Amino acid sequence: MMKKVAIVNSKSFGKITDAYDELKKYFHVEFVNVPRDINGKALSERLADFDFLVISATPYYSSDFFEYNQRISVIVRHGIGIDNVDVEAATIHGVLIVKVPGRYEREAVAEHTIGLIIAALRKIKDAHASLISGIWEDRIRYIGRELSSKTIGVIGFGNIGRRVAEILTKGFKARVIVYDPYVAAEEIKKEGAEPREFDELLAEADIITLHCPLITETKFLINKDSIQKMKENVIIINTARGQLIETKSLIDALIEKKIAYAALDVFEEEPIPPEHPLLKLDNVLLTPHIAAYTEESLIGMDKYVVKSLKDILNGIIPDGTVNVEVVGKSSRLAKILQK
Ligand code: NAD
Repeated sequence: MMKKVAIVNSKSFGKITDAYDELKKYFHVEFVNVPRDINGKALSERLADFDFLVISATPYYSSDFFEYNQRISVIVRHGIGIDNVDVEAATIHGVLIVKVPGRYEREAVAEHTIGLIIAALRKIKDAHASLISGIWEDRIRYIGRELSSKTIGVIGFGNIGRRVAEILTKGFKARVIVYDPYVAAEEIKKEGAEPREFDELLAEADIITLHCPLITETKFLINKDSIQKMKENVIIINTARGQLIETKSLIDALIEKKIAYAALDVFEEEPIPPEHPLLKLDNVLLTPHIAAYTEESLIGMDKYVVKSLKDILNGIIPDGTVNVEVVGKSSRLAKILQK
């Protein structure tokens, strides 16, 4: 009998590829939508009939979910952020977690980040709005700033942060300073950037762009206290995760103009409610979590998801596996891999 795969809360899987039809050749496949804030027990009940999951950035797969669900053996994240899965609990319960390797989203997110930086520096959103409202003569209001003479602070020097830094240093000849406590100073220097402590970066950067994961230590990394340590007129870019920034403090600083501009692709609460105060500000540029949405990125991710599930059927552990220690210890996984 065919194994059952649920595609959970994904708006993009199979949208521009034949990945859904391809999966259907090997599995019984269903799209399942659940509330973003569903609790672990209810989520487990909703997904009780499935063997494998392809998951999006929501909902949260908690320890309760893994406690209650006795059947799912493999979860493939259609994306690279794994902060909505309690991987430790998955490992304890013998569930293999696979994520799309970083290379598939790297360019898309890095290019979106650069786009946001330039749009912020050159006031493109406001200039466009002014022009289409029939006002040409106001163009003197849209005097921008140049990227090549700026210092950009990159927080998180991994897959995406490194590529952003590379484009900025090699393409724009900008100065890049980096805070990443897990990357050696020598490695940062080798890439043409300069390592900094967190507070040093805050004090020096004209533009700060976030590229670290959302984990306990990075939640609200940008808060009232860290904003106080920033330069006046700083620009904040976030294409990583919304909860890296304490939104209330960001809004206060944008109103006071301590922060000149924020360009954000991700939000503390998603979708951002229509009445949210952030949406009322002029000095923001906001996109609805689309940094990874390019044809190239989605095609790559779709193909990877299909390949990784086919690999599992053939007893092969995908290279994007996050908790490989499960292999050999999980009886439900062993049953699948032996087939
Ligand atoms: P990665 O794991 O390759 O790199 C993250 C880097 O952050 C690592 O070098 C790590 O050492 C560093 N880091 C960890 N803790 C840190 C801390 N306390 N301070 C500073 N740096 C720290 O991840 P990636 O592939 O580069 O992705 C980066 C972020 O982008 C993730 O949050 C991911 O969820 C997000 N993302 C967003 C989108 C989108 O659509 N907007 C798409 C893909 C990824």
